[in-house]
Amino acid sequence: MILEIVKYGQPVLRQKGAKVESLTPEIQKLIADMFETMEANHGVGLAAQQVGVALQVAVIDVRGAQKERPSTVELDGQPGELDAIMPLALINPVVKPVSEAKPGSEGCLSFPEIFGEISRPETVDVTALDGHGKPIRFRCGGLLARAVQHEIDHLNGILFIDRMERKMKEEIQEELDLLQADTRKKIKSKTKGS
Ligand code: ZN
Repeated sequence: MILEIVKYGQPVLRQKGAKVESLTPEIQKLIADMFETMEANHGVGLAAQQVGVALQVAVIDVRGAQKERPSTVELDGQPGELDAIMPLALINPVVKPVSEAKPGSEGCLSFPEIFGEISRPETVDVTALDGHGKPIRFRCGGLLARAVQHEIDHLNGILFIDRMERKMKEEIQEELDLLQADTRKKIKSKTKGS
């Protein structure tokens, strides 16, 4: 089922996700729906907060961008294929930087048509449970490293605009204010209608 993606201005985007204690059928359904929603919106990643659920769950699939913005993955110290871990569900993920930060272009499905340069470590180590509740551990670089960090930020209530340089954020401040006002208006009219 394709879910509605919540936009900037929805309080849930600022909530830290609760840790998943057990992989219930509800969470498995949520993960399947998140994959479907990400694909329908041509995203490379989606966090549970973006579909209105404050849980430590995210999905990622960067394979479609491999030509323009390549990703690398290492499993047990050996270069691996993206297909070995994609499409990737991350439950309770933890990320550790292993290289210097580098700027790169970033967008977010909760911020339609807003992009910015964000500085993030180029290579990171990730530990998590996968979509089957199995522990996984890998090192990644390129777009995948960026996507993982962007999604884990979401799981902690952090948004990519928080990591923008002040000057860049000032340039898009008007767009952000408009989006936030629009979201709040929609929340209000929904509450009235129910
Ligand atoms: Zn995002």
